[in-house]
Amino acid sequence: MQIELLTIGDELLLGFTVDTNAAYLARALAAIGVEIVHRTTVGDDAEKIAAAVSEAIERTGAVITTGGLGPTADDRTRPVIATLFGRELVLDESIVAQIEARFWRMTSAKMPQTNIVQAMVPAGARVLENHHGTAPGLWIEDAQGRWVAMLPGVPREMRGLTQDSILPILRERIGAAPVAIVSRTIRTTGIGESALAERLGELGKSVDGMPLAFLPGWAGVDLRLTSRTLPPDEATRALDSAERMLRDVAGPVVYGTESDDLTELILDMCRERGLHIATAESCTGGLLGARLTAIPGSSDVYHGGVIAYDNSVKTKLLGVSDVTLREHGAVSEQAAREMAEGCAKSLGAQIGVGITGVAGPGGGTEEKPVGTVWIAVSGIGETRALGRVYVGDREEIRMRATQASLDQIRRGLASI
Ligand code: ATP
Repeated sequence: MQIELLTIGDELLLGFTVDTNAAYLARALAAIGVEIVHRTTVGDDAEKIAAAVSEAIERTGAVITTGGLGPTADDRTRPVIATLFGRELVLDESIVAQIEARFWRMTSAKMPQTNIVQAMVPAGARVLENHHGTAPGLWIEDAQGRWVAMLPGVPREMRGLTQDSILPILRERIGAAPVAIVSRTIRTTGIGESALAERLGELGKSVDGMPLAFLPGWAGVDLRLTSRTLPPDEATRALDSAERMLRDVAGPVVYGTESDDLTELILDMCRERGLHIATAESCTGGLLGARLTAIPGSSDVYHGGVIAYDNSVKTKLLGVSDVTLREHGAVSEQAAREMAEGCAKSLGAQIGVGITGVAGPGGGTEEKPVGTVWIAVSGIGETRALGRVYVGDREEIRMRATQASLDQIRRGLASI
């Protein structure tokens, strides 16, 4: 089933409110096999609402609106859509009673007269009870089966009405064996978008007819597969098989699926092996330590770290040699190695991580431009070092370096 979505509100156009209703509805509807094929946003303007709704009715004949059902003068959705369908607005006494009761329950006050408009219902429309607010949702349909469902803009109320009314109504209309629109995210790190696309070859376009999206970010490139044509069980099987294919071809850059976090993965891998981690961070200033300590229970693996920003800290607390700093500089493979080994030794952990780099915006040289980062991990066999030049602003470079250091630990642990 294909439908259209119209989100209404000046604040959406002005950018003061992010349109989370659209994102929520797209996901909730996709899960039952309903596809949003067209999405529009208009302000609180009667003519614009009327134009957008009538175009959508002509195109798909199935429309959900959110917003503009409130009691104030800028709430125009109800009368505009009633007019489009040629219906009168009629006062529904049972809604008045419900709103009055709600006001009394919530505020011990009488309902303001302005709220009466929320009990005005287009003749023949179905009232969708709102358990989280005053304005009920409304479902209006014409003789040809073309319909508009009006939901409030307040996200909590919109979500409640979607779950309580919209999804059950649509499920019933779709029938017994609906297709599901289901996605699977496969998480990769340590490889760029184009290199990953090259590695995946034809699979990079689609896997078994399911389109593949590349979603790059500082944590890596997520691959999102979407099944749109199969019933739920078959879709899950198809996604499982496609995931296996992608993992085979992509190789060790894959570290998880959906919302898997590299930090949790590493903590689990260390726990299984009885290993502990210590960190020595320069350019990331404790971001790695912060990610590790953000996970409850990480104290059984993470011993602690040194923020070794100044060279004197690198030498005094971590034992980085003066010769290394003089001959190679603080941002060097040799310094990262000595930082990793030094923190492991002084903090009594088997695994040590050293990170040193130029996060910018200043401080870059021709030889070591902004974004140059050296990461070393000791205690996983021999000490391994990784040198990269990251693009992005200071924050991105620091986040990318932190993620890369976690990935270095993961790869090291996987090999022992
Ligand atoms: P109310 O009964 O409270 O007046 P309403 O149906 O008239 O609800 P709006 O007045 O348009 O809805 O919006 C109410 C609140 O919900 C506002 O704070 C608005 O920012 C927020 N909101 C509206 N539309 C969206 C949306 N598409 N995504 C996220 N928030 C939204």
